[in-house]
Amino acid sequence: MKNYITLAVLVFWLTVFSFMCASLAFNIFSDQDDVKLGQQLDEEIRSKPQEYPILQNRSDVKNYVEQIGQKILNSPNVKKRGIYAYKFEIIHDDSTINAFATPGGYIYVYTGLLKFVDNEATLAGIIGHEIAHAERRHATQRLTKYYGASILLSIVLGEKPSQLAEIAANLFTGLAFLANSRADEKESDQYSILYLKDTEYYPGAIKYFFDKIMAEKGVRGGSIERLLSTHPLPQDRVDFVTQEMQKMGNPQPDESNLFAKRYQNFKATLP
Ligand SMILES: [Zn+2]
Repeated sequence: MKNYITLAVLVFWLTVFSFMCASLAFNIFSDQDDVKLGQQLDEEIRSKPQEYPILQNRSDVKNYVEQIGQKILNSPNVKKRGIYAYKFEIIHDDSTINAFATPGGYIYVYTGLLKFVDNEATLAGIIGHEIAHAERRHATQRLTKYYGASILLSIVLGEKPSQLAEIAANLFTGLAFLANSRADEKESDQYSILYLKDTEYYPGAIKYFFDKIMAEKGVRGGSIERLLSTHPLPQDRVDFVTQEMQKMGNPQPDESNLFAKRYQNFKATLP
């Protein structure tokens, strides 16, 4: 009889826990788990040069992107600086117009994206968006929803470390964790604006990226389709940035906050 009661109590708490996991803000992973997952994924990425050809011998390109990242990370609205890794890497693939972040602040930018955007502020807006995915812990929040109750069980059983490695391996298959929900995308846009407000960049610069995607969707086909599969871009994301700029009294975008010339010089050096 006693065993049944224990079981009933366990089932009850697992049910409660599953509901908690399904709610938005709850995350069963610690910040350290995020960093560990990110590290493991980084190793996986580096071990697959066919899929993820890391740009070699071009520390200048990496430094340029890193410098933009650092300006954003200096924003007081970034809360996990010093906790998360915040490392930047360039993937040499011109046919992919994308960037992605893994848990714990590992951020990867494709040369296809570097060549696609027209000014430095837009790239900063996208990097800010990726930093937000890490800061807001979108990947491990989604994992909490998928694995919630089973992770709780494995903690009870003391198996959490091996389960983390398993999750990292599962995550990597197809990089499914990169498919962000619309709500996560919108939140990342919101934080991108918030971070850029504290920098020299035009805060709504990510909208230039959206505009160009919309304009070139029909022309470029495949590479834009692939981008949209991991970063959905419904009209309300575009409208949201416009509304946020209106709230800020419509700051004027010009060369002093877009840095198009500086960016074109950088672009000309890309391999
Ligand atoms: Zn995103």
